Amino acid sequence: MKYDTIIIGAGVIGASTAYHLKRLSPKKKILVVEKNDKVAVGNTSKSAALYRNLFSSRTSQVLANSSISYYESIADKIGLKELGYFWMLSREDYQRSKSGLNKLDENRDRFEILSVKEIPENLKVNTSKSKEFSEVECILYGHRCGSLSAIKLARYYATQFQKLGGEIQVHVEIKNINLTQKNRFYPPWSDVNIESITDQNGVNYASENYIFATGAWTNSLLVPYGIASQIYPQKRQMFTLRIKPDQIAFDIKKRIPILVLPSGGVYIKPVLQNSLIMVGCANELGNPYQMNVYPPDAEEGYFKNVIEPVLNHYFPQLEDYSLFSKWAGYYAYYWPDKNPVVEKVSNIQWVSGTSGSGIMKADAIGRIAAARSLDLKEVELYDETKFLVADLSLKKRKVDIEELII
Ligand SMILES: Cc1cc2nc3c(=O)[nH]c(=O)nc-3n(C[C@H](O)[C@H](O)[C@H](O)COP(=O)(O)OP(=O)(O)OC[C@H]3O[C@@H](n4cnc5c(N)ncnc54)[C@H](O)[C@@H]3O)c2cc1C
Repeated sequence: MKYDTIIIGAGVIGASTAYHLKRLSPKKKILVVEKNDKVAVGNTSKSAALYRNLFSSRTSQVLANSSISYYESIADKIGLKELGYFWMLSREDYQRSKSGLNKLDENRDRFEILSVKEIPENLKVNTSKSKEFSEVECILYGHRCGSLSAIKLARYYATQFQKLGGEIQVHVEIKNINLTQKNRFYPPWSDVNIESITDQNGVNYASENYIFATGAWTNSLLVPYGIASQIYPQKRQMFTLRIKPDQIAFDIKKRIPILVLPSGGVYIKPVLQNSLIMVGCANELGNPYQMNVYPPDAEEGYFKNVIEPVLNHYFPQLEDYSLFSKWAGYYAYYWPDKNPVVEKVSNIQWVSGTSGSGIMKADAIGRIAAARSLDLKEVELYDETKFLVADLSLKKRKVDIEELII
């Protein structure tokens, strides 16, 4: 069977793209292939699944705000919880973020800046500095922020796609891309595109167009065929700790928000119904842009050396905790501005570079990737914001740098 479009990869981005493409062009025969046995078991399932609307870059704001609006409309289906972000900033963080914060509006973007004195006493946070760690200067308290179930979100898109007549095949790992020019030394005036793709069993799949929504695998898949996708994998690790009740009092203004600590990008997601907290960190330098094994190991040494000292400093009373579980995955990074890439060469499109915020931006990214596949110049996002599709391309990219960085 020849398809109009084959999407490779059924993570949140592939599923969202498939749904929006089928919605916009219901007659198209669209196939999604996935090497795993289910939708959303790649890096989508490894994510902390946090979302926030607080970004200084207009691109991030538009992608996140419109996606969050969509998620709010299906909140009960995807486990959306508006927990808030209690983002503690050091003086340096605050100075660095000031111009970004100035671009936000307290009412429209629903946040407030709290002074250290407004931190509830029962949080028992140590706000003072040490030789290694900075003093807490103030708190950026974001209200349109929280968490959702990334797996439910991806499967929601996949189900909607199937309801419209879209097809998903699992256990299909694409191993080869067959170009119309078999000989690498083809004449430069000839037209070249993908004729078919081949899976692990030698089965060929043919289509007019191919969309690689293969996240952290995108570069290794496309580079051998002369496509520099610019997407690099970088490992990220998550740890859950079993804590004793009341060791960290999370009740802040009648809410249990996500806590972000000033040093090293350590964040804490409470899962208090199970007496657990989930802790992650976002270090870059020294962390290779490489995928050696999948899934990668979450290393206890990383927890002990990178995360635990930060926790111990800011929450000294957090003593009797035990490591309950750990896992790791890969960010698919577009390093220069950490926003997604939606690019196309011939009949080969790729959509990735979600750089650690693919869950919170997936709805907008899917709409933009679908529009790119249909060669539309502009797309209307869920909240009716207009977005120029080429702004996320590599060749005509127009993305401003993010200044509010965890
Ligand atoms: C530890 C961690 C924490 C994170 N926390 C957050 C967060 O709090 N908020 C947020 O917004 N984002 C977060 N992210 C990022 C988020 O998970 C990603 O941006 C998002 O999941 C990317 O979705 P994707 O569909 O591009 O990738 P994936 O979910 O990895 O999907 C790609 C799919 O392609 C398939 N595939 C690859 N190669 C082939 C092939 N050859 N043939 C067939 N199928 C193939 C894979 O099996 C996979 O299912 C986090 C990521 C990690 C690792």
